[in-house]
Amino acid sequence: MQEATPETPADRLTAIRARMHAAAKLARRPGEDIHLIAVSKTRTAQDIEPLILEGQRLFGENRVQETASKWPALKERHPDVELHLIGQLQSNKAEEAVALFDVIHSVDRLSLVTALGKAMEKLARAVPCFIQVNIGAEEQKGGCSVAELPDLLKAAQDAGIPVAGLMCIPPAELEAAPFFALLAELSARHGLAQLSMGMSDDFETAIMLGATHIRVGTALFGERPSGV
Ligand SMILES: *Cc1c(COP(=O)(O)O)cnc(C)c1O
Repeated sequence: MQEATPETPADRLTAIRARMHAAAKLARRPGEDIHLIAVSKTRTAQDIEPLILEGQRLFGENRVQETASKWPALKERHPDVELHLIGQLQSNKAEEAVALFDVIHSVDRLSLVTALGKAMEKLARAVPCFIQVNIGAEEQKGGCSVAELPDLLKAAQDAGIPVAGLMCIPPAELEAAPFFALLAELSARHGLAQLSMGMSDDFETAIMLGATHIRVGTALFGERPSGV
Protein backbone atom coordinates (compact mmCIF):
# COMPACT_ATOMS: atom_id res chain seq x y z
CA MET A 1 0.00 0.00 0.00
CA GLN A 2 1.28 3.41 -0.94
CA GLU A 3 -0.78 5.47 1.53
CA ALA A 4 -0.83 5.38 5.30
CA THR A 5 -4.03 3.79 6.59
CA PRO A 6 -6.24 6.43 8.19
CA GLU A 7 -6.66 5.84 11.90
CA THR A 8 -10.29 5.58 12.88
CA PRO A 9 -13.15 3.69 11.22
CA ALA A 10 -14.78 7.09 10.62
CA ASP A 11 -11.67 8.29 8.72
CA ARG A 12 -11.60 5.07 6.75
CA LEU A 13 -15.28 5.49 5.91
CA THR A 14 -14.54 8.89 4.41
CA ALA A 15 -11.67 7.41 2.37
CA ILE A 16 -13.83 4.52 1.10
CA ARG A 17 -16.64 6.87 0.13
CA ALA A 18 -14.13 8.90 -1.90
CA ARG A 19 -12.86 5.75 -3.64
CA MET A 20 -16.44 4.61 -4.38
CA HIS A 21 -17.22 8.03 -5.81
CA ALA A 22 -14.10 7.98 -8.01
CA ALA A 23 -14.85 4.46 -9.27
CA ALA A 24 -18.46 5.38 -10.05
CA LYS A 25 -17.30 8.42 -11.95
CA LEU A 26 -14.81 6.39 -14.01
CA ALA A 27 -17.57 3.87 -14.76
CA ARG A 28 -19.95 6.74 -15.62
CA ARG A 29 -22.46 5.47 -13.10
CA PRO A 30 -24.52 7.62 -10.71
CA GLY A 31 -22.90 7.37 -7.28
CA GLU A 32 -26.27 6.91 -5.61
CA ASP A 33 -26.72 3.56 -7.42
CA ILE A 34 -23.90 2.08 -5.34
CA HIS A 35 -24.50 1.17 -1.71
CA LEU A 36 -21.83 0.51 0.89
CA ILE A 37 -22.57 -2.30 3.33
CA ALA A 38 -20.27 -1.98 6.34
CA VAL A 39 -19.49 -5.56 7.32
CA SER A 40 -19.55 -5.48 11.11
CA LYS A 41 -19.25 -9.21 11.96
CA THR A 42 -17.08 -9.67 15.09
CA ARG A 43 -17.19 -5.90 15.83
CA THR A 44 -18.67 -4.49 19.00
CA ALA A 45 -21.33 -1.82 19.36
CA GLN A 46 -18.54 0.60 20.32
CA ASP A 47 -16.80 -0.12 17.00
CA ILE A 48 -20.01 0.26 15.05
CA GLU A 49 -21.69 3.32 16.52
CA PRO A 50 -19.13 5.90 15.31
CA LEU A 51 -19.90 4.84 11.74
CA ILE A 52 -23.63 5.27 12.29
CA LEU A 53 -22.91 8.75 13.61
CA GLU A 54 -21.00 9.45 10.36
CA GLY A 55 -24.15 8.58 8.41
CA GLN A 56 -23.43 4.94 7.54
CA ARG A 57 -26.78 3.11 7.41
CA LEU A 58 -26.25 -0.36 5.87
CA PHE A 59 -24.51 -3.01 7.96
CA GLY A 60 -23.68 -6.62 7.11
CA GLU A 61 -23.54 -9.53 9.55
CA ASN A 62 -22.92 -13.22 8.90
CA ARG A 63 -24.50 -14.83 11.95
CA VAL A 64 -28.08 -14.75 13.20
CA GLN A 65 -27.09 -15.29 16.85
CA GLU A 66 -24.46 -12.56 16.92
CA THR A 67 -26.90 -10.15 15.27
CA ALA A 68 -29.66 -10.98 17.75
CA SER A 69 -27.40 -10.18 20.69
CA LYS A 70 -25.67 -7.11 19.25
CA TRP A 71 -28.13 -5.16 17.13
CA PRO A 72 -31.49 -4.69 18.90
CA ALA A 73 -30.02 -2.14 21.33
CA LEU A 74 -28.22 -0.31 18.51
CA LYS A 75 -31.34 -0.33 16.37
CA GLU A 76 -33.35 1.18 19.18
CA ARG A 77 -31.01 4.17 19.17
CA HIS A 78 -30.73 4.25 15.37
CA PRO A 79 -33.98 2.89 13.91
CA ASP A 80 -33.12 3.73 10.30
CA VAL A 81 -30.18 1.31 10.17
CA GLU A 82 -30.59 -1.50 7.60
CA LEU A 83 -29.26 -4.96 8.48
CA HIS A 84 -28.02 -7.24 5.71
CA LEU A 85 -27.41 -10.96 6.26
CA ILE A 86 -24.37 -11.94 4.20
CA GLY A 87 -23.51 -15.32 5.75
CA GLN A 88 -24.86 -18.82 5.20
CA LEU A 89 -28.28 -19.37 6.69
CA GLN A 90 -29.64 -22.62 8.16
CA SER A 91 -33.24 -23.29 7.19
CA ASN A 92 -34.21 -23.69 10.85
CA LYS A 93 -33.12 -20.07 11.47
CA ALA A 94 -35.08 -18.65 8.54
CA GLU A 95 -37.84 -17.22 10.71
CA GLU A 96 -35.41 -15.54 13.08
CA ALA A 97 -33.50 -14.13 10.10
CA VAL A 98 -36.67 -12.74 8.50
CA ALA A 99 -37.54 -11.03 11.78
CA LEU A 100 -34.05 -9.55 12.30
CA PHE A 101 -32.76 -8.63 8.86
CA ASP A 102 -33.90 -6.13 6.25
CA VAL A 103 -32.13 -7.86 3.34
CA ILE A 104 -30.77 -11.43 2.94
CA HIS A 105 -27.85 -11.97 0.51
CA SER A 106 -27.26 -15.71 0.93
CA VAL A 107 -30.24 -17.58 -0.53
CA ASP A 108 -28.64 -20.56 -2.23
CA ARG A 109 -30.85 -23.65 -2.15
CA LEU A 110 -34.40 -24.87 -2.49
CA SER A 111 -34.89 -25.90 1.16
CA LEU A 112 -33.93 -22.38 2.25
CA VAL A 113 -36.25 -20.79 -0.32
CA THR A 114 -39.11 -22.87 1.08
CA ALA A 115 -38.27 -21.96 4.68
CA LEU A 116 -37.91 -18.25 3.88
CA GLY A 117 -41.16 -18.19 1.91
CA LYS A 118 -43.03 -19.69 4.87
CA ALA A 119 -41.34 -17.37 7.37
CA MET A 120 -42.17 -14.25 5.35
CA GLU A 121 -45.78 -15.32 5.06
CA LYS A 122 -46.07 -16.14 8.76
CA LEU A 123 -44.50 -12.87 9.89
CA ALA A 124 -46.19 -10.87 7.11
CA ARG A 125 -42.82 -9.37 6.33
CA ALA A 126 -41.33 -9.26 2.82
CA VAL A 127 -37.52 -9.24 3.05
CA PRO A 128 -35.70 -8.57 -0.23
CA CYS A 129 -33.26 -11.37 -1.04
CA PHE A 130 -30.25 -11.95 -3.23
CA ILE A 131 -29.58 -15.36 -4.73
CA GLN A 132 -25.98 -16.31 -3.96
CA VAL A 133 -24.17 -17.91 -6.89
CA ASN A 134 -21.07 -20.07 -6.35
CA ILE A 135 -19.48 -18.22 -9.22
CA GLY A 136 -16.10 -19.97 -9.12
CA ALA A 137 -17.65 -23.45 -8.66
CA GLU A 138 -15.67 -23.92 -5.44
CA GLU A 139 -16.42 -27.00 -3.40
CA GLN A 140 -16.34 -25.41 0.06
CA LYS A 141 -18.30 -22.32 -0.83
CA GLY A 142 -21.97 -21.47 -0.43
CA GLY A 143 -24.09 -20.47 -3.37
CA CYS A 144 -26.03 -22.31 -6.03
CA SER A 145 -24.28 -23.41 -9.19
CA VAL A 146 -24.71 -21.37 -12.36
CA ALA A 147 -26.71 -24.30 -13.76
CA GLU A 148 -29.11 -24.33 -10.77
CA LEU A 149 -29.77 -20.60 -10.85
CA PRO A 150 -32.79 -20.47 -13.21
CA ASP A 151 -34.78 -23.05 -11.21
CA LEU A 152 -33.85 -21.53 -7.86
CA LEU A 153 -34.81 -18.09 -9.06
CA LYS A 154 -38.17 -19.33 -10.26
CA ALA A 155 -38.78 -21.19 -6.98
CA ALA A 156 -38.02 -18.02 -5.01
CA GLN A 157 -40.36 -15.93 -7.12
CA ASP A 158 -43.07 -18.62 -6.85
CA ALA A 159 -42.63 -18.62 -3.06
CA GLY A 160 -43.37 -14.89 -3.01
CA ILE A 161 -39.83 -13.91 -2.05
CA PRO A 162 -38.87 -10.50 -3.43
CA VAL A 163 -35.67 -11.25 -5.36
CA ALA A 164 -33.49 -8.13 -5.54
CA GLY A 165 -30.62 -9.64 -7.50
CA LEU A 166 -27.55 -11.86 -7.35
CA MET A 167 -24.63 -12.09 -4.93
CA CYS A 168 -21.22 -13.73 -5.21
CA ILE A 169 -17.89 -14.22 -3.44
CA PRO A 170 -15.26 -14.98 -6.10
CA PRO A 171 -12.34 -17.37 -5.43
CA ALA A 172 -9.88 -15.71 -3.05
CA GLU A 173 -6.69 -16.30 -5.02
CA LEU A 174 -7.89 -15.31 -8.48
CA GLU A 175 -8.52 -12.03 -10.28
CA ALA A 176 -12.13 -11.16 -9.42
CA ALA A 177 -13.08 -9.24 -12.57
CA PRO A 178 -14.11 -12.21 -14.78
CA PHE A 179 -16.31 -13.57 -11.97
CA PHE A 180 -17.96 -10.19 -11.41
CA ALA A 181 -18.55 -9.89 -15.16
CA LEU A 182 -20.17 -13.34 -15.24
CA LEU A 183 -22.47 -12.49 -12.32
CA ALA A 184 -23.47 -9.25 -14.07
CA GLU A 185 -24.26 -11.18 -17.22
CA LEU A 186 -26.40 -13.72 -15.34
CA SER A 187 -28.21 -10.88 -13.63
CA ALA A 188 -28.94 -9.14 -16.93
CA ARG A 189 -30.11 -12.41 -18.47
CA HIS A 190 -32.72 -12.77 -15.72
CA GLY A 191 -33.72 -9.12 -15.66
CA LEU A 192 -32.56 -8.52 -12.09
CA ALA A 193 -31.69 -5.03 -10.91
CA GLN A 194 -29.14 -5.46 -8.13
CA LEU A 195 -25.68 -6.98 -7.78
CA SER A 196 -24.04 -7.67 -4.42
CA MET A 197 -20.34 -8.07 -5.17
CA GLY A 198 -17.00 -6.57 -4.17
CA MET A 199 -15.21 -6.59 -0.80
CA SER A 200 -12.29 -4.67 0.73
CA ASP A 201 -9.74 -5.76 -1.88
CA ASP A 202 -11.81 -5.49 -5.02
CA PHE A 203 -14.77 -3.17 -4.55
CA GLU A 204 -13.61 -0.69 -7.19
CA THR A 205 -13.42 -3.47 -9.79
CA ALA A 206 -16.91 -4.58 -8.71
CA ILE A 207 -18.23 -1.03 -9.18
CA MET A 208 -16.73 -0.92 -12.69
CA LEU A 209 -18.61 -4.13 -13.49
CA GLY A 210 -21.99 -3.06 -12.14
CA ALA A 211 -22.09 -3.73 -8.38
CA THR A 212 -24.98 -2.01 -6.61
CA HIS A 213 -24.00 -3.31 -3.14
CA ILE A 214 -20.38 -3.64 -2.03
CA ARG A 215 -19.60 -5.43 1.26
CA VAL A 216 -16.61 -3.95 3.03
CA GLY A 217 -15.26 -5.08 6.41
CA THR A 218 -11.49 -5.04 6.83
CA ALA A 219 -10.92 -1.79 4.94
CA LEU A 220 -13.28 -0.05 7.38
CA PHE A 221 -12.62 -1.72 10.72
CA GLY A 222 -9.14 -3.24 10.29
CA GLU A 223 -8.16 -6.91 10.34
CA ARG A 224 -10.48 -9.43 11.95
CA PRO A 225 -9.30 -12.30 14.12
CA SER A 226 -8.30 -14.94 11.55
CA GLY A 227 -10.79 -17.45 10.27
CA VAL A 228 -13.90 -15.26 10.55
C1 LIG B 1 -16.61 -10.95 5.78
C2 LIG B 1 -17.33 -10.77 4.50
C3 LIG B 1 -17.14 -9.62 3.71
C4 LIG B 1 -16.15 -8.52 4.05
O1 LIG B 1 -14.87 -8.93 3.72
P1 LIG B 1 -13.62 -7.90 3.85
O2 LIG B 1 -12.57 -8.56 3.03
O3 LIG B 1 -13.30 -7.83 5.30
O4 LIG B 1 -14.05 -6.60 3.31
C5 LIG B 1 -17.90 -9.50 2.55
N1 LIG B 1 -18.79 -10.45 2.18
C6 LIG B 1 -18.99 -11.57 2.91
C7 LIG B 1 -19.98 -12.57 2.44
C8 LIG B 1 -18.27 -11.77 4.08
O5 LIG B 1 -18.47 -12.88 4.79
